[in-house]
Amino acid sequence: MGTKAVAIASAIGFAAAGVAACGRTIPVGDLVAPSGDAGTDAGDGGVETCTEAPVDVFDPLGTCARDEDCEAGICRRDATPPEDGSVVTLACNPPAAGMPEGATCASDTDCGRGLCVVAGRCVAPCRDREDCPSSESCEVVRVRASGDITQQVRACVPRIALPADIAIDVEDDSLLAETAEDGTIATDVALPGGAALFVLETGCAEALRAVRLRSMMPELVYFDGDELRVGAPAPRNTINAEARPLTAWIPNGPTAPTAESYLLGVAPRPVTPTLTTLRGTRRGGALDIDAFVVGARFQGSSGSPEEDAEALAQIFARVEEILGPAGIRIGEVRHHPVTGELAERLRILDREEGSFPERRELMRLTLGIAEPSVPVFFVRSIDQLLGLSGGVPGPWGILGTEGSGVVMSTEVIEMSGLDLGRVAAHEIAHYLGLFHPSELDGLEVDPLPDTPVCSLDQDADGDGFASADECAGFGADNLMFWSGQATGTELTPGQQMVLSRALVLKR
Ligand SMILES: [Zn+2]
Repeated sequence: MGTKAVAIASAIGFAAAGVAACGRTIPVGDLVAPSGDAGTDAGDGGVETCTEAPVDVFDPLGTCARDEDCEAGICRRDATPPEDGSVVTLACNPPAAGMPEGATCASDTDCGRGLCVVAGRCVAPCRDREDCPSSESCEVVRVRASGDITQQVRACVPRIALPADIAIDVEDDSLLAETAEDGTIATDVALPGGAALFVLETGCAEALRAVRLRSMMPELVYFDGDELRVGAPAPRNTINAEARPLTAWIPNGPTAPTAESYLLGVAPRPVTPTLTTLRGTRRGGALDIDAFVVGARFQGSSGSPEEDAEALAQIFARVEEILGPAGIRIGEVRHHPVTGELAERLRILDREEGSFPERRELMRLTLGIAEPSVPVFFVRSIDQLLGLSGGVPGPWGILGTEGSGVVMSTEVIEMSGLDLGRVAAHEIAHYLGLFHPSELDGLEVDPLPDTPVCSLDQDADGDGFASADECAGFGADNLMFWSGQATGTELTPGQQMVLSRALVLKR
């Protein structure tokens, strides 16, 4: 893993500013890890040494944690003056004026319990899952207090927000079909057949790699991580090999799904995996956006909520213009300013060993979203990237995971003179399921036969990268060209078809 991360970082550094690698990790061969890395047990760097965000270590404050603790009144925010980043003090009190849980809110005083999550919803406190409705879970969330202050509390929030017609199946046992016998260390996870988005989460934040995807009846290899770089035929169903959580959207190209189950080979062996399967049909629709502005300043805006809202309206009008040919229109854009110490800490995403430690806490701000959307985070900058998608596709409608949204390197994009709306459209298109037609070295391609490929034949300066100017006429005009230096917005019919099928679209 270490070697791999270094190789990716140096490749991107070499290509200088303006590279949009977008969360797609470029494989550097060697997808079979050395035997010492098999990771069925905790150990040195093993599967149980995951880094949890500090919000997960949490002690409630006050005289109650939930209504059940109160002999009279309800469990709600007490009068203790809030301190930025602290834990909310709760007490049993008569209900205050304000809305009930589930209502839309902009500040603590909008809610009867004084608890308004950053994503704009009144919530009720809880101690564990049993205190919550069955569709919700008990999570540590950030709630707004007076001014720029946010605080932590444990509250009931939906884990999934998808249109009502989408069938959702969550499975958390007997997933691991077998350990493969062909000498690799991959563990096969059985996926039920048919067309679906499969989302594989692990209890720990350990990175899982997808090694291959195949069906048994008929016997068909959809994706093989080992074959990506050896001039093999294009994958039938590419998957984003290192996203967290792992997602597989079948089909994402012309290859038909099979009715019989698939086997998704992953490594290392997952700890307490949860598989969420989403099914439904879409041909375009409305895409809502939850826009979190995290300490980023838009050009031409003073930073006031009104001017930021205007900047967001312009960005998403541009996104709609670009994604419109796929039958996608932008629905509601919900603006969530992130302020105070939270913005201070999360506005710059630094890279550590190939991942972004702040990303997990950032994505937890999606907890509290109740409508299907793509969450888009506008931070000031991301180390060496213009944008970062939570997956290809992202875990649509599943909230609070490390991949639950798109992040934009807002100020770097604007300082580079690039079009923020176009970069947002590119990242959202990743989130809806589009890969780069070909990657930076021209060797790895998407599963769509009608997308342009720019190979190293075009690499005029011999630097090993098929750059935007070298690829003029060979894909640089496409929205999904790998480099952030490109300015094109074209989408092929195949790409439009993939985008139009995203299950997070509202009808
Ligand atoms: Zn990209």
